[in-house]
Amino acid sequence: MNATVNAKPRGRQFFNNPGPTNIPDRILRAMDRPVMDFLAPEFLEIHRACFAGVKRILKTDQNLFFHASTGHGAWEAAVANLFSPGELVLVIETGHFSLGWKEMAETLGLKVETVEADWRKGVDLSKVAERLAKDKGHEIKAVLAVHNETATGLVLPLQEVRRALDEAKHPAMLLSDTISSLGSMEYKMDAWGVDVTVGGSQKGLMMPTGMAITGVSAKAMEASRKAKLPKYYFNWELMAARMPQKFIGTVPVHFFFGLQESIKMIEEETLEGVFARHARLAEATREAVRVWGANGKGPTLYGQTVDRLSNSVTTILMPEGQTSDAMRKAALERFNLSLGGGLGPLTGKVFRIGHLGDLNEPMLLGCLATTELAMKVAGVSFGPGGVDAAIKSLAS
Ligand SMILES: *Cc1c(COP(=O)(O)O)cnc(C)c1O
Repeated sequence: MNATVNAKPRGRQFFNNPGPTNIPDRILRAMDRPVMDFLAPEFLEIHRACFAGVKRILKTDQNLFFHASTGHGAWEAAVANLFSPGELVLVIETGHFSLGWKEMAETLGLKVETVEADWRKGVDLSKVAERLAKDKGHEIKAVLAVHNETATGLVLPLQEVRRALDEAKHPAMLLSDTISSLGSMEYKMDAWGVDVTVGGSQKGLMMPTGMAITGVSAKAMEASRKAKLPKYYFNWELMAARMPQKFIGTVPVHFFFGLQESIKMIEEETLEGVFARHARLAEATREAVRVWGANGKGPTLYGQTVDRLSNSVTTILMPEGQTSDAMRKAALERFNLSLGGGLGPLTGKVFRIGHLGDLNEPMLLGCLATTELAMKVAGVSFGPGGVDAAIKSLAS
């Protein structure tokens, strides 16, 4: 037997992708139980608790749907439920994920206009306000926005998009993708006047991939009754009529076993505590990267607008002319550290450190130190002292 081929790395894998994220043992244990009839009173109680808990996390008192799909399914549900063929929507460009939602909306038969943006700086919100003000005939039916652009590591201030809509007295709905900010960064669906919120299970909620969440305002429910795009599995009205679970087909009970535990964990820490921990870990990561790039030849923060840098993921730009492939490969294959790569046009040009979900200081420091090790092994130049800077940030 060839020992090196069959050898499994010792210790845990350090998993710092910005999704999926680490699944805590508590959630795995909660899911490790026999199946249950989804009409059983015991399950209905779990299901009820999950609906109530996710509404508290989204900060909404409105409608909520779970879809047995990834976040992409919830994107599709939002588009298919709200619009009729040929209607116009406005996509705020943030990066790879915003363009994905745009492509989906076009494919499903909508007209899509984009407010273009510099991916490193984030959108100039006055351009959004201008476009809305110009739309006197209210042709634009909705604004589609990615709250936390996981590809670039920048946040979009949704309150300001709301303000732009209000100031223009524009009735367009506001749709937001909170897939990588849900349960890791502040989000207030009702207070921010978001009509549809799209979330997923495998990021801040620390769950396996495969359950999507959609918060729907009363106004969006009303729009869905008039919308003519075809839908069946994702049809909110049909789902709402399937009481009490609001599911078309078999209810994935194990997801709810896990979700109940996830909500419990988040609320034990308190939402504010969860957000503060993410902010702390994110700032320590950024401090390390600032030092790596301080020699003028090392990797730097991709995002250039300081007050929009994400607390759930940091995107790091490689030095000119170098790809991130070799250092990511070394990190994974030699040291069992999984880092995120670049998406779309950023492939090879950046790498991403996910610092969301079930993560603490030692895990982050392990990741940052091993990232330095992988850069050294792969011959990437970087300023020394990044880990020290992170320690200093975490200690303060
Ligand atoms: C992960 C992610 C998606 C895609 O979600 P899936 O569950 O992989 O379909 C969409 N938008 C954002 C912002 C994401 O981070």
